[in-house]
Amino acid sequence: MSPTNAPAGAVRQGSLRELNLALVLGRIAAADRPPSRADLATATGLTRATVSAVVEDLLAGQLVSEADPAPRSGAGRPARGLVLADQGPAGLGLEVNVDYLAVCVVDLAGQVRHRTVHRADLRPVDPADALARLVELAGQARADAARQGLTLAGAALAVPGLVDDAGMVRLAPNLGWRDVPVPALLARHSPLTEQVPGMPALVVDNEANLAALGELHSRPPGPASFLHISGEVGIGAGIVLDGALFRGVRGWSGEIGHLPVHPQGLPCRCGGRGCLEQYAGQEAIVAAAGLARAELPADTATARLAELAEGGDAAALRALHDAGTALGVAVAGVVNLLDLDTVVLGGGYAPLAPWLCPPVLAEIASRVLTAAWSPVTVRPATLGAEAAAVGAAGSVVRRIVARPAGWLARCG
Ligand SMILES: [Zn+2]
Repeated sequence: MSPTNAPAGAVRQGSLRELNLALVLGRIAAADRPPSRADLATATGLTRATVSAVVEDLLAGQLVSEADPAPRSGAGRPARGLVLADQGPAGLGLEVNVDYLAVCVVDLAGQVRHRTVHRADLRPVDPADALARLVELAGQARADAARQGLTLAGAALAVPGLVDDAGMVRLAPNLGWRDVPVPALLARHSPLTEQVPGMPALVVDNEANLAALGELHSRPPGPASFLHISGEVGIGAGIVLDGALFRGVRGWSGEIGHLPVHPQGLPCRCGGRGCLEQYAGQEAIVAAAGLARAELPADTATARLAELAEGGDAAALRALHDAGTALGVAVAGVVNLLDLDTVVLGGGYAPLAPWLCPPVLAEIASRVLTAAWSPVTVRPATLGAEAAAVGAAGSVVRRIVARPAGWLARCG
């Protein structure tokens, strides 16, 4: 081999190892039962010796661990299966929303190991101050993770607005944010996580997108194509098609809250009129139910509405029915356009689903051309109210699993 070929050969060698690490780790992550080394060799087509070497690397880097041995089923030592490690790297999920901050830590196996929700009306708060509060919560999460043997290997931040490729929040109408340079503002503080080669330290994304991704990767697996709607003060949607998020040309898809349901209706913060948010956003429902915001902090609005509806309160039931009808008009339009068969109600909509689903389904039945012979399922989200923060942390974890070599390089 000539000297000029040597570096290329070295790169190929490195790439092959990286591919094998990702291949084996991906199989372990996707397996229903902890696979043995022999199972992994069969599944990947790699030799037993290669699998053993790769598994040693993954064990040393705390990416996998050996499961408790299965009961003996014959002679010989039972093969020990491999599982994703519950110590080692973890993802930090962050969320800034209109009336709360959320922070969570998710381990490689997808378990939520830390969760904090701080309720506060963030509309009057300067973005830099809101992010400073979030950094403080993240510091507590990091300390708690360390106590559990976890190292934060990256962070993702969910915001209720339009985010560009550089992580700049172009517009978050309900927060009142415009052109907020989130990465630069966070860089004023000490780093939230470790630096891992090949991994972004921070990704900023739309909360509805991250919540939809969280739902897509939740267990047990759901459908590969669905519409996920996050109902907060604002309403956002994540469109998942064939197992991938449809982001749109500029990454700004999913603004379902600004679909007009009454074209000449109430003015909206976006500058338009009659947007869905004005009829099915959390504040609209609360007002229609006769609950003054002053008497009812935003953080308790959903729980209070559910409580009233449960007790048969006529105003709350009417408010939820009307919101569900408006939501159904918008959803029927999306279903007609995209031919989806599953709609997931997430965020603040999840606990209200028993009252929102019937009117949404009624609108679908009357407005979707194909509804008669191809029913659409409308159901609450699997993840709870902090789906966006959990989805954000999960997106970090999936990056580690997809490219484990970066984490291993950090471990030396
Ligand atoms: Zn609007």
